[in-house]
Amino acid sequence: MSTERTGGAPGWESRPYLRIATEEAYAPQEVLDEFVKILDSGDADAGFVSLMGYFLRSDHPQPRSVMTKIASLGESRLRDMDATGIDKQILALTAPGTQVLDVDTARWAAQLTNDRLAEAVAAHPDRYAALAAVGYEDSASAVAELDRAVNKLGLKGLILNSHIKGRYIDHPGFFPILEAAASLDVPVYLHPQTLPGAAIDPWREAGLDGAVWGFAAETGLHLLRIITSGLFDRLPNLRVVVGHLGEGVPYFMHRIDHMHAKQVASGRYAAIKPLQQRPSEYLKTHVWLTTSGMPWEPAISFARQVVGRDRVMYAMDYPYQFVGEEVDEMDALPYSVEEKREFFQGIAERVFRL
Ligand code: MN
Repeated sequence: MSTERTGGAPGWESRPYLRIATEEAYAPQEVLDEFVKILDSGDADAGFVSLMGYFLRSDHPQPRSVMTKIASLGESRLRDMDATGIDKQILALTAPGTQVLDVDTARWAAQLTNDRLAEAVAAHPDRYAALAAVGYEDSASAVAELDRAVNKLGLKGLILNSHIKGRYIDHPGFFPILEAAASLDVPVYLHPQTLPGAAIDPWREAGLDGAVWGFAAETGLHLLRIITSGLFDRLPNLRVVVGHLGEGVPYFMHRIDHMHAKQVASGRYAAIKPLQQRPSEYLKTHVWLTTSGMPWEPAISFARQVVGRDRVMYAMDYPYQFVGEEVDEMDALPYSVEEKREFFQGIAERVFRL
């Protein structure tokens, strides 16, 4: 853990902690251009069209400005960080990331993104750290790229923008990638995506497919699949970070433990097997939560009760959720200064080995 502090947002020297925001989005313009090509192709996934069609095709100034901000690693981003008192961002390729690209384009996009992120970190080491992207469908190249990103470029984890064309990370084809993350000792950041295929229809029909609820439904499922598939038993060194305070899963843990045990006993599903721990216990041993999009004291305090106060850390979700007042509200959380130092800084420094 680094203790030398050489810079941050204005006023950092006199504050009791640095504010590290841990789920902050970036995309090279070239990758956004690939998303536009998919939109143009006419046969894109409905969730992709709903989400990226809004951000990349809307005439409304708000989504346009989000896409302008997301492609910047320079002055405009640093200005926004200064204005909101964010000392450091942990950057990662925005959803849906490489997930929606064909295999070759995904490999290219991951390398390009990782190179750009490494350049930005080198230019502003006090202000940025970054997670690696990989193209998940070619696991051999993904393992090689993750190794390059961590060992050569100094990136601090792996971004997983949830499902890969409807397949989840517990699919055996992806196992070597998780094995590599565990053996490199870097965390996997599980980030929301839109629901796959026709599963999104009831959400979209009601206008609830995006960040309002669909993301949590999809990503909560993904987190549970990681737990119930036994991945943490097979890879005890695997560490997963989840945003949005765990995508609703912590609130359901009592019921999940109870019903999981029943389903194990029933033998009803081949995929439901005995685990070394109760499902809820993995949240206290292998999972860390961030507050992205959830700057809400009752939920933060509850999450700290369920997973432990040493496992809940700050994230803003820039530029999608860029609300400066939220930082003041988080500064005012009813915890001791030492606990807030952990919340804003210490946990992130340990999890991502900053
Ligand atoms: Mn996000």
